[in-house]
Amino acid sequence: MIIVIDGPAGSGKSSTARQVANLLRLQYLDSGALYRAVTVAWLKSGKEMSFFEKLNHLNLTFRYENGLFRVWIDSIEVTNQIRTEAISSIVSVVASRPDVRALVNQIMHKAISESVCIADGRDLGTAVFPEADLKIYMDASPTVRAKRRTRELIESGDEADYQDVLDKILQRDELDSGRDADPLRMAEDAILVKTDKLTFDQQVELICQLIQEKQKQQ
Ligand code: C5P
Repeated sequence: MIIVIDGPAGSGKSSTARQVANLLRLQYLDSGALYRAVTVAWLKSGKEMSFFEKLNHLNLTFRYENGLFRVWIDSIEVTNQIRTEAISSIVSVVASRPDVRALVNQIMHKAISESVCIADGRDLGTAVFPEADLKIYMDASPTVRAKRRTRELIESGDEADYQDVLDKILQRDELDSGRDADPLRMAEDAILVKTDKLTFDQQVELICQLIQEKQKQQ
């Protein structure tokens, strides 16, 4: 069984999916982290365009353990690096390349095993796993998403300016929704979960309920 959660930057999909995975003991797959890891590798190559010709040789591995989605490139862990602002600001450009999308999709298909898995991203319900058992689309207004992201950054000890965070969220929305290759959009058969007025615990509870209802039907 595969459950997918798509939605724009800062909609809370990753933190919600992780918590749901922990509560229901599911495997968790963070597709954004894979795009971020490819971006780190490209930066390390010195932004060489020839990097993309050798994508198939990229040694990208990952593991979900103790609530953390960890990623390695050539056996070097890049879990912390992928979350930096330097990566957030260019990942959408790298992710708009069809060759990069093909690589990440191939990795994700390989990762889906027999067990129940919850994955989050932008195009999982529409392009990567159109056959998913349950599709959820999480959304919130840009201002709510920017407020949450600013709070998270400040809580984790980083500097954050609300207007700057909002501008970057809007920029990423535009790139992710406007690109030709598998743009961000809600699948026709997805369930829309608007989180503007929900607390984190309410979001988690709602999604756990949806999964449990689905499991009963199967
Ligand atoms: O979810 P996260 O913010 O980590 O994703 C980083 C970026 O990776 C997104 O802004 C988007 O450009 C790209 N992405 C994507 N398709 C996915 C997941 C992420 O294009 N399925």
